[in-house]
Amino acid sequence: MTFRLYVTIGLAVALIGALWALADGSAGAGPVVQGTAEPKGVAVAMPQAATSLPSVQLHATAASNPCAQAPVQQALASGGDDAVVAAFGGGAAFRAAVAAGSAPCIDLSDPNRDWVVVNKARPLNPLAFAPTSFGDPALSVDGAGSLRSDAAHALDQLSAAADAAGVGTIALASGYRSYDTQVQTYSGQIATYGQAQGDALSARPGHSEHQTGLAADVVSCAGGCGSIDSFGGTAAGAWVAENGWQYGFIVRYVAGQTPVTGYDPEPWHLRYVGVPLATAYHDGGFVTLEQFFGLAAAPAYLG
Ligand SMILES: [Zn+2]
Repeated sequence: MTFRLYVTIGLAVALIGALWALADGSAGAGPVVQGTAEPKGVAVAMPQAATSLPSVQLHATAASNPCAQAPVQQALASGGDDAVVAAFGGGAAFRAAVAAGSAPCIDLSDPNRDWVVVNKARPLNPLAFAPTSFGDPALSVDGAGSLRSDAAHALDQLSAAADAAGVGTIALASGYRSYDTQVQTYSGQIATYGQAQGDALSARPGHSEHQTGLAADVVSCAGGCGSIDSFGGTAAGAWVAENGWQYGFIVRYVAGQTPVTGYDPEPWHLRYVGVPLATAYHDGGFVTLEQFFGLAAAPAYLG
């Protein structure tokens, strides 16, 4: 382990050196990345190699018992969610520890945390939970509601980056929904489509990600805002599927995963998990949050 770690660090250092050499040789003025349309986060060339240094070291520390580590305990007590993930050694190490069942201090049912998982088998706890902070995205359609404040801010960044990339802005079509609102939405779907179809279209009260304030149904606003149903076919929809992770969002319900998520594909339904976890999700090639955290599939309600 120690030897392997040493070799890995050595390689990383060598890689950094090579990158610097390339940057110096080709640009002449330092590591300036070309292309103004590049999304935020990719625009900095160095950290790709540089960040592997601390993450490798911290991962080695966290592998034993991350919850017993003082930095993890301190971050859980007083830090933000990003700080907790960082104390584990980054998103990949955090995920690995949680999925392996070796991080009992991480509660995937805590609706105040970025890592909460809500699905048909995992209702909110408490059932009528409401976030404590709210923010309104800069762009939203009438009646869209709010998001948790940090998610609203992240959506603003996502929208600005999409616009800068040439696919137009992205607006919130539906954000936070209270328990009471979901009671009305769900009962309406059931009345219209029947129980089975209604369950496939709308979450039961207390089972909706929208109740966390971390879920955003979005629309493309290139030359007038479209509908959520058309979002997946827009340039913005394709861009978000590819780049949303850089702003902390994942597409929660993708094609082919209905047996795991319990929902038909919804390219418009974005879930905020924070940049560190979204990055690990993207880099690891995960397609469901259940798979990401090693949870059971949730194709149907338990009762
Ligand atoms: Zn949604």
